[in-house]
Amino acid sequence: MNVISTLLAICVGAAIGLGLLVLDDLRWEARDRVPRCTTCGEQHPRHATHR
Ligand SMILES: [Zn+2]
Repeated sequence: MNVISTLLAICVGAAIGLGLLVLDDLRWEARDRVPRCTTCGEQHPRHATHR
């Protein structure tokens, strides 16, 4: 019983760690990407000037 719970704890910990890693990677990628402008529909920095 004790071995099983230890293995389960290790599995859960590894899953959580991996999930956090993937989440962090996704967030970094989203922040690095240039946002799509809602005004003109093109990709450029957020505070660009429009006409
Ligand atoms: Zn724009």
